[in-house]
Amino acid sequence: MHVDLIISGRWLVPVVPENMVLENHSVIINEDRILDILPADKASKKYSTANQQDLNTHVLIPGLINNHTHAAMSLFKGLADDLPLMDWLNNHIWPAESKHVNRQFVADGTRLAVAEMIRGGITTFNDMYFFPDITAEIASSIGMRVCIGLIVIDFPTAWANDTQEYFDKGQQVHDSLRHHPLIKTAFAPHAPYTVSDQPLQKVAVLAEELDIPIHMHIHETEFEVNQSIENHGIKPLKRLESLGLLSQRLLAVHMTQLDKADIDLIQKYNVNIVHCPESNLKLAAGFCPVKTLSDSGINVSLGTDGSASNNDLNILGEMRTAALISKGLERDPCALPAMEVLKMATINAAKALDMADQIGSLEIGKSADVVAINLETIESLPVYDPISQLVYASDRNQVTDVWVAGKQILNERALTTMEVNQLHHIAKTWHSKISAG
Ligand SMILES: [Zn+2]
Repeated sequence: MHVDLIISGRWLVPVVPENMVLENHSVIINEDRILDILPADKASKKYSTANQQDLNTHVLIPGLINNHTHAAMSLFKGLADDLPLMDWLNNHIWPAESKHVNRQFVADGTRLAVAEMIRGGITTFNDMYFFPDITAEIASSIGMRVCIGLIVIDFPTAWANDTQEYFDKGQQVHDSLRHHPLIKTAFAPHAPYTVSDQPLQKVAVLAEELDIPIHMHIHETEFEVNQSIENHGIKPLKRLESLGLLSQRLLAVHMTQLDKADIDLIQKYNVNIVHCPESNLKLAAGFCPVKTLSDSGINVSLGTDGSASNNDLNILGEMRTAALISKGLERDPCALPAMEVLKMATINAAKALDMADQIGSLEIGKSADVVAINLETIESLPVYDPISQLVYASDRNQVTDVWVAGKQILNERALTTMEVNQLHHIAKTWHSKISAG
């Protein structure tokens, strides 16, 4: 049988079933789907192709999913570091945003972010930012998969002037993109402290109607929780419960301030957690109790957050950080093993986005979102266990090739759908403009 593409790897980690490492296997791809996975010697007898990729020193894994980004903020990378969250937001990020964010900023910032993410093995990102239509257009034109957030926030921005306009524009974006093969939409109310009760209730109702996820920063800092108790008499999670926001649709980002009652609430409503370990560390926000959440059967995935608070969009790096801080925090070296953090960056993230039937693992019938990582390097040899090596002894520079829906967007570390010179130009132009104030 003739097929579009055969990728053969030294190792293949399908993620589902977990802890499985296949050796010398091929992924058979036709159009945008995985048609078969079988030993390479059998594949060469059963299938033929004009596009054979032999990656004899590589591990093949499903595309990584970055479940929390503000992609366009790449243009603010390194603008204001080593500051407390509210000082950082109130005195640096929000003023810079009100001055510079427009359609061009979002287009250019997204280009830079997407290029960085592809070179780090990320094939899907879950974004929250203004001008989500632009983020969708840029990402999909590059060939990357995206879930764009239909942002809702109480104050006026370049994207919308009031609550009604945020909803109207969000609905328009959803309607125009709902059938696009690389684009999904979610509601993205920014945070409990920036969105009031009425719009939050509306988000809950509309998300149900449109059957889309809700993506929100929740319990990021102690300050946020205390402020809610002061203003509303209850913690943010409790308030969200009363407004109908807690459900399996919800991707609750950060969640560093959780006690037993909060965790019971999360478990009761099957809320998905997005853990952003490096952003939480950098802003000293606190620690998400990932092991307790996972042990309670709660779905946890990983996100980088925006470039201004991380400062890289590196999910392989987040996997290692998540594993290490969980072990330290729990004083338990068995906490969050390598396979668990790989699941958090793939299948768990896909489940949270309600996309597990399409992405998150290398399985027959799923979309061909495949990443090849070279493990035969000085840094990663010898390879006893490719999953362990991936998490503890390799980095994103070893990602060589990336396919999304069967289309190659990274080839031997070269971006196939973007001009590197243009990216340098974008970064330098915005650097001059933003530094000028
Ligand atoms: Zn964020």
